Amino acid sequence: MQPCAPTQTPDVDIPALREKYLLERDKRIRADGQQQYLEAEDDFSEFYEGDPHTPVEPRQPITDDIEVVILGGGFCGLITAHRLQQAGVTDFKIIELGGDFGGVWYWNRYPGIQIDSDAYCYLPLLEETGYIPKEKFSKGDECFEHAQRIGTHFGLYDNAIFHTLIRSLKWDGEVNRWQISTNRGDEIRARHVILCQGPYNRPKLPGIPGIRDFKGHTFHTARWDYEYTGGDLHGGLDKIADKKIAVIGTGSSGIQAIPHLAKGAKHLTVFQRTPSYIFERANYPTDPEWVASLEPGWRAARQRNFHNAAFSFYSPGEPDLICDGWTEVSRNMAAKLNATENFSGWAALADPAEFMKLKEIEDYRAMERLRQRVEQIVDDPATAELLKPYYRNMCKRPVFNDEYLPTFNRPNVTLVDVSETKGVERITDKGIIVDGVEHEFDCIVFASGFEITTALDRQFDIKPFAGREGTSLYDHWGKGFRTLHGVMAHGFPNHFATGFVQGGVTASTTLMFEQQADHIAYIIKQAQDRGATYVEPTAQAEDEWVATIRANSVDNSTFTSECTPGYYNSEGEPNGRSFLGDPFWGGFYELTELLQAWRDTGELEGLVLEK
Ligand code: NAP
Repeated sequence: MQPCAPTQTPDVDIPALREKYLLERDKRIRADGQQQYLEAEDDFSEFYEGDPHTPVEPRQPITDDIEVVILGGGFCGLITAHRLQQAGVTDFKIIELGGDFGGVWYWNRYPGIQIDSDAYCYLPLLEETGYIPKEKFSKGDECFEHAQRIGTHFGLYDNAIFHTLIRSLKWDGEVNRWQISTNRGDEIRARHVILCQGPYNRPKLPGIPGIRDFKGHTFHTARWDYEYTGGDLHGGLDKIADKKIAVIGTGSSGIQAIPHLAKGAKHLTVFQRTPSYIFERANYPTDPEWVASLEPGWRAARQRNFHNAAFSFYSPGEPDLICDGWTEVSRNMAAKLNATENFSGWAALADPAEFMKLKEIEDYRAMERLRQRVEQIVDDPATAELLKPYYRNMCKRPVFNDEYLPTFNRPNVTLVDVSETKGVERITDKGIIVDGVEHEFDCIVFASGFEITTALDRQFDIKPFAGREGTSLYDHWGKGFRTLHGVMAHGFPNHFATGFVQGGVTASTTLMFEQQADHIAYIIKQAQDRGATYVEPTAQAEDEWVATIRANSVDNSTFTSECTPGYYNSEGEPNGRSFLGDPFWGGFYELTELLQAWRDTGELEGLVLEK
């Protein structure tokens, strides 16, 4: 592969831009914050529980005692299952709402779906399954197929209970098991429960006045209705040529689906509250020569390099192996430091304030480059202006697309800016009101995202979630996460969490899941080997972990509060949940070592085990 060159970025007036960023943020901040969204329940339950991809077969309710239940069969669930197998724990079931493995890649099959992150880092268990992604940014079907590959390779289909949604979890201290109820009337008891639902499990809807009145067709991008649109995830939406379609939402999902809707529909109207920042896709097929050159461990080195760009920093002269929009700011900054005589510029980074200052400059320059890119692609200057993102890099998820911006040069596409009204004003039985005028539509597509940083009981949708003494997990974590090592909680025996809670964060979420799965599998195996039916962290161990988290915390509240609202910063709510949870800022790789050292003692310090 070619060495990765820095991008050419323009000069910027940072104070003026900062002022503009704050004005744009203030325009969009809403007093109702996270409450502006509706849950996919009642009239809208099909937006979550309905499966447009696989018919749900009737089955008898299951009554069973299982050693370990993994909630969720996406990449987290699959990685965890593999790690349990490796540890010698084989009596487990994966309970999954979808009709197959894949999680987000099972559900999200909207046209244009494609990874927005380096596939060589993101797709899990590559070396273990002997698979190499076909291109840098895999399409959605390749991701789904890889989930199926993992399921087949490790014989996990026998462990799966598909089309089943866990409704409640209650700890039963009489038998030291979790009682699990599901949407299929099952009565399952599990010794251990591992939550692998992932952050994007549950679609949410905008709470737009009148949303229930619309009489036309509607669906959410996460449950795409190809019966209605025709085509498939590669496009070719051939059933909507006579339809007027509206899309609400211009985040990662909306951006990818919109070019295909525009090609298929009679007319497409895009309702945009905040423009995304859009990097060049610059995708490429996997080079066989590069594959032939790979040595064992190549992937770990690549993931580490990605981590350095996103959550730490390069060392002098370190190449950027990822070479895309995620790494642009760090790459450009490192290039300037590398250009100093004998790398002398790197010395300045010893001062964290100087590091932040240099990074901020590159951030503003990179975002200005992307705004200029909009101008170069979009013909109409007024439309181009509306499509320019005025906020800092990483305030929102970066997106990568070459078709989205040219879509606004099409005669059958209209962009409607709804930033002044902080979102779409009103939906009626026939369409959407804009500036007091009703626009009629046949179909409204909601690209409105997921319950990611809304309240935990909305995201988990497990009610009740009751631990020892009947305590609700939502109460226990009501004022912030409290865990041991980010995976266990006091009062919740034999329960294991994954994801963005109180663990380490890195650039590839699947690597984070691997770290957590290693730890969880070890604890469960140890409990089994010691004949324990009960394992729970002490209150003291939990307190100490919370103190460790606090001692290593990084104050990025200025950055996040200055960001435009979105799920990353909990819609700008002052004490909202961060997308990253409450991480161990001591470092992802440092946490790996810390957890390994804890396991190496074999003492299970901080855990109570009972027979
Ligand atoms: P999202 O990023 O949360 O975007 C939701 C969109 O809906 C935003 O544009 C939001 O506008 C808009 N919206 C919400 N309420 C509105 C209202 N009342 N009026 C008008 N617009 C409204 O959701 P997403 O696009 O589904 O992406 C979610 C996450 O899933 C991504 O960030 C990414 O992590 C993951 N994802 C990844 C991929 C990939 O890797 N290829 C693809 C899809 C999704 P505001 O921005 O103004 O709030």
